[in-house]
Amino acid sequence: MYVVVVASECAPVAKVGGLADVVFGLSRELEIRGNAVEIILPKYDCLWYDQIWGLTVAYENLWVPWHGGAIRCTVFFGFVHGRKCFFIDPHSDDNFFNRGIFYGHYDDPERFAFFCRAALEFMYKSDKRPDVIHCHDWQTGLVPVLLYEIYQHIGMGHQRACYTIHNFRHQGTCGEDVLWGTGLGDPGRYFVQERLQDTFNLLAINMMKGGIVYSNAVTTVSPRHAWEVRNTDLDCGLGGTLYTHRDKFSGVLNGLDYEQWNPETDPWIAGHFTAEDMAGKAEAKRALRERFFLRDADVPLVSYVGRLDSQKGMHLVRHALFYCIENGAQFVLLGSSPEPDTQAHFRHLKGQLNDNPDCHLEIGFSEQLAHQIYAGADMIVVPSMYEPCGLTQMIGLRYGTVPVVRSVGGLVDTVFDVDNSDRPKAERNGFVFDDVDFAAIESALARALKLWRDKPKAFAKLAATGMAQDYSWNVAGEHYLDIYERIRAK
Ligand code: ADP
Repeated sequence: MYVVVVASECAPVAKVGGLADVVFGLSRELEIRGNAVEIILPKYDCLWYDQIWGLTVAYENLWVPWHGGAIRCTVFFGFVHGRKCFFIDPHSDDNFFNRGIFYGHYDDPERFAFFCRAALEFMYKSDKRPDVIHCHDWQTGLVPVLLYEIYQHIGMGHQRACYTIHNFRHQGTCGEDVLWGTGLGDPGRYFVQERLQDTFNLLAINMMKGGIVYSNAVTTVSPRHAWEVRNTDLDCGLGGTLYTHRDKFSGVLNGLDYEQWNPETDPWIAGHFTAEDMAGKAEAKRALRERFFLRDADVPLVSYVGRLDSQKGMHLVRHALFYCIENGAQFVLLGSSPEPDTQAHFRHLKGQLNDNPDCHLEIGFSEQLAHQIYAGADMIVVPSMYEPCGLTQMIGLRYGTVPVVRSVGGLVDTVFDVDNSDRPKAERNGFVFDDVDFAAIESALARALKLWRDKPKAFAKLAATGMAQDYSWNVAGEHYLDIYERIRAK
């Protein structure tokens, strides 16, 4: 099968969150299974260029229709750790992808609407005719719309679209002029509830809604979240659309790239280890303490890695930090936020706790530090308000770092409480709490810290159970291939 992935992120060259890991990991798995996969990305100026091999011009003078005229683009090709990637570089005063950051500009809808049109124009002009075009999140929601409304009539009639939603909160709502820009200039057709009109703001279009309506298959990133967005207010207004299109909608649990996240071979960590021999983890813990100037003592080390975003339950993360240092444990945090207020709040907290030998806050994005924390910590907290899938708990499991999570979304599908779960004892791998208040996370943390202190062997066994479980792309790759097979043109 020939698959083209169109996305706004791909690890490690353009990574903001889990979307990047999924684009890379799924593409790799599909290739291992003998499929041809190509990835189309914007050529951001802030790409991690030293992770791209053999960057060369693949297509010059690609004229992409835009607002009645056209913008000239150059398309580059390069390998990202073996994946075949095309990077679209528009030349115009809009300067769409030379902003120093991936997202967070007032014209983000225009930037990515243009990218959608450019990706299709590139496929069309360079005679790429994949069986399936797989797009992700609101940034590429217009790809299926453009495919169906424009490109299928001019030679791309056999291409099918699969659309994966990683986060329902960001839907790409914007003014109608963006549609005009891409060439979809018939408001009577698009500006209706059944197609692209936003559910709440009747003056706006919604790119994610377009992706759902026009794709042949729609997925979200865990079975539990697929249920939540159909049955609770976590749908962010798209529940009706999902109900209408329920026959093509499902939840596929993300996998983890076991090559990239491997405590046995990870080049960034101080000690290597396996479920059978955990000795190297103690070395990783020691190195992490040294790096963060933490006191070396016989106490548990609790961690948080992730975006500093209200989605992630920041009040509970903050509470966990104080609970740990007041209860004889240490806490390390690695996170960043595009919101200046949140970033400032955590910088302030960092300043306040700077001299505390039992905690360290690292405000920023660092792939290397993330690996070192996953390897060196004993536990990882994930107290999310909502969590479509969540990768940090899966990475924690892979590195023998026991997850302490709230029972929401993909966390429900991956973490099973050691004391209370309907899963067999042999599958239980962490600590789970339900409510969003301080008492709930405290009780889960208290159980975790107590097990670590009172029953170290039981704690080590719990960590080893998580390490032995398989959350690789193996299963999810199979699922996506089934979906592609079902929708491909026969
Ligand atoms: P989301 O996609 O909502 O951000 P996920 O848990 O699905 O959350 O994925 C988060 C990914 O981003 C993980 O690979 C995590 O290690 C990584 N990550 C998040 N914040 C940082 C950071 N500040 N530094 C390094 N890696 C980070």
